[in-house]
Amino acid sequence: MPRYADIVLPLAQPAYTFSVPEGMALGAGEAVVVQFGVRKFYTGLVWRVHETPPSSGRVKPVQRKLYDRPLLTPQRMALWEWIASYYLCTLGEVMRVALPSLMKPSAATEEAFCEEEFRPRTECYVSLAPELCDEERLHEVCERLERRAPRQYEALLEVAAAGDERRISTGEVARRLLRADYGALQALCRKGYLRSAEHERTIERGGSHFLLPELTPPQQAALGALRAAYAAGKGAALLHGITGSGKTEIYIHLIAETLARGGGVLLLVPEIALTAQLISRLERIFGSRVTAYHSKLTPRCRTETYLRLNRSEGGELVVGARSAIFLPIHNLQLIVVDEEHDASYKQTDPAPRYNARDCAVVMARLLGCRTLLGSATPSLETWLNAEGGKYGRAVLTERYGAARPPRIFVSDTLRAARRGERHAHFNKLLLDKMAETLDRGEQVMLFQNRRGFSPYVECTACGWTARCPHCNVTLTYHKAGGRLVCHYCGHTEPVPERCPHCRVTDVVPMGFGTEKIEEEVRAIFPRARVERLDRDSVTSERAFRQIVSAFEARETDILVGTQMITKGFDFAGVGLVGILNADNLLNNPDFRAAERAFQLMTQVAGRAGRRDAGGEVVIQTADPAHPVIRQVVEGDYEAMARAQLAERQAFFYPPYARLTALQLRHRDMELLRRAVLHLASALRARFGRRLLGPMTPPVDRIRGEYLVGLLLKIESGASSARARELLSAELKTFTENPEYRTVAVTVNVDPQ
Ligand code: ADP
Ligand code: ZN
Ligand code: ZN
Repeated sequence: MPRYADIVLPLAQPAYTFSVPEGMALGAGEAVVVQFGVRKFYTGLVWRVHETPPSSGRVKPVQRKLYDRPLLTPQRMALWEWIASYYLCTLGEVMRVALPSLMKPSAATEEAFCEEEFRPRTECYVSLAPELCDEERLHEVCERLERRAPRQYEALLEVAAAGDERRISTGEVARRLLRADYGALQALCRKGYLRSAEHERTIERGGSHFLLPELTPPQQAALGALRAAYAAGKGAALLHGITGSGKTEIYIHLIAETLARGGGVLLLVPEIALTAQLISRLERIFGSRVTAYHSKLTPRCRTETYLRLNRSEGGELVVGARSAIFLPIHNLQLIVVDEEHDASYKQTDPAPRYNARDCAVVMARLLGCRTLLGSATPSLETWLNAEGGKYGRAVLTERYGAARPPRIFVSDTLRAARRGERHAHFNKLLLDKMAETLDRGEQVMLFQNRRGFSPYVECTACGWTARCPHCNVTLTYHKAGGRLVCHYCGHTEPVPERCPHCRVTDVVPMGFGTEKIEEEVRAIFPRARVERLDRDSVTSERAFRQIVSAFEARETDILVGTQMITKGFDFAGVGLVGILNADNLLNNPDFRAAERAFQLMTQVAGRAGRRDAGGEVVIQTADPAHPVIRQVVEGDYEAMARAQLAERQAFFYPPYARLTALQLRHRDMELLRRAVLHLASALRARFGRRLLGPMTPPVDRIRGEYLVGLLLKIESGASSARARELLSAELKTFTENPEYRTVAVTVNVDPQ
């Protein structure tokens, strides 16, 4: 019987069928090389092996197998299938994000493919010859060497001791870890006292006796509540604890338990919170069981990690950003999602537009593991799931130790301006508190959610503003480079000397970003050491670490930054946090604006006085009576949640409805308009009033392409599977319509 294999390729395409050569043992989840198209060789993943010949076309054979074991387990395949079906994408698109780049080379010829193929680095390991595992014999040889060849004697002792110490069954020690010199080791190998072997790096995992901090009574109670929830059969639970309450300590306890019984653990953190700080905190406890995985690692390192984990026997902790959910962690028993509300868990582009937090919850079911969602300010979706009993829940309401919650002051910008108490972008209250804090020898953090110097430049005579020629947005002024920059497409141009419209020479920067705040702070506090942390100052992982560690070492007095300063930092010396402009957080035209503003301000405020008693926070706003500001001041998450949920229910938004956003793009505005009307009417025939739009997004032209959106709102109770089916059928019809073939359509399920 001829056999066939359905194979997933790293393309936005369905699986294709290939024939399996006689005698090739092939199973689901294995990687292979196949030829696809005329002259293109790809890495493919075997999805299914069967005996049904494809209905049309010539079938090409599988060329050969890759790697010595499958890359995917059946549970992992189920996860990929869930992602493809829920987020309306192909398995090939899942493959693109799931496998590190070096594992899916493609090439024009088989030979070129071979060259591209990934080969893991190997290294030299040495071990005692079996003969010397006998203690007496070892002693004898040592005695002889001690007199005649002292360097060899020392080397032999070191290998014996290292093998012993690490209690490795093979007795193998990496040569890199030995102090002994290579010459002596080589001589010992020649004499047959040592064996050496070249192979892939192995990780020595050490023991399972982790030194854990003792939990406080409230922390113990929270841990108990989580254990009880899992024991009662809940796959997911929420740990809702204010900043500094010890959520990480609780994670550490759960992680230790899991590792000790040989289980694997995945700790997900938002990308920019993946700091050396957290990693070293975990390494101090779990040693070499900790592996970090994020986008700043080299492709080689990511690939080696993937393959190493695929061979590992379990008992490992991976700390990673969202794409780490795809790592083949053996016997995965616990997934912790820290800062679960964070928008960076959602991938916006390209497909799959998945949310790693939601995938982690689904994985609890598919893989039979436990998922813990931690946050000081949970997303309303998660909070409602915990309220409704779908998730377990534990709460921490106190900061650890002597640390008290910060005192929050609201400072009215309009009032300050009226009284002449505003200097540059600072109210007197903030400046006074900054001076006091610096005098006490403490540090200040200033938050502004816009980078650059100013968000636009304007002609004072005619009102002309500089806009991007490719996108419908204003250009941001970056003073450092002396240029105007588009934050959507990267277009840059010099600042015009005179207004191109009226020729007057008064083109001035308006509004303010982090760069301008930094400049003002330097002028007001000339003796303070000031640094800035945003996407412009952080050009590399190293630059990031330098700024952070300088601040940690108190070599910086004032740190100005964007969202980047809000996450994952634990600085003891911060006495004051200033939020320069709360209004642009609150006045966002997004249904999540209030929730986001609350989360952001609470997170930023949480940086103040994490260890000492009583840090201070100043929030500058033109609208001090805004309910969200009051909720932040009172630290009243629940009030915010209830108020926002009532609004969401009234206007029918998540978590009471599921949103799917469709976006169409084209250079030709007229064609795009026709296309969107066509698609809208097709969808309206299916979904009726559940379809909204067409609507013009706030930025309706990017990189020369016009954009238009449609929004599907399905009530939470309805069958979302059925809705997805109808939607993908309509999309298929639409994309196959020759008239609209050139229109790009993206589907974003659960947009953030
Ligand atoms: P969260 O993750 O909730 O923000 P952390 O776990 O980072 O809080 O705890 C805040 C600080 O308090 C950390 O420096 C941590 O080491 C310390 N801490 C919390 N709980 C304990 C404990 N039980 N024993 C010792 N230190 C603790
Ligand atoms: Zn002008
Ligand atoms: Zn642009």
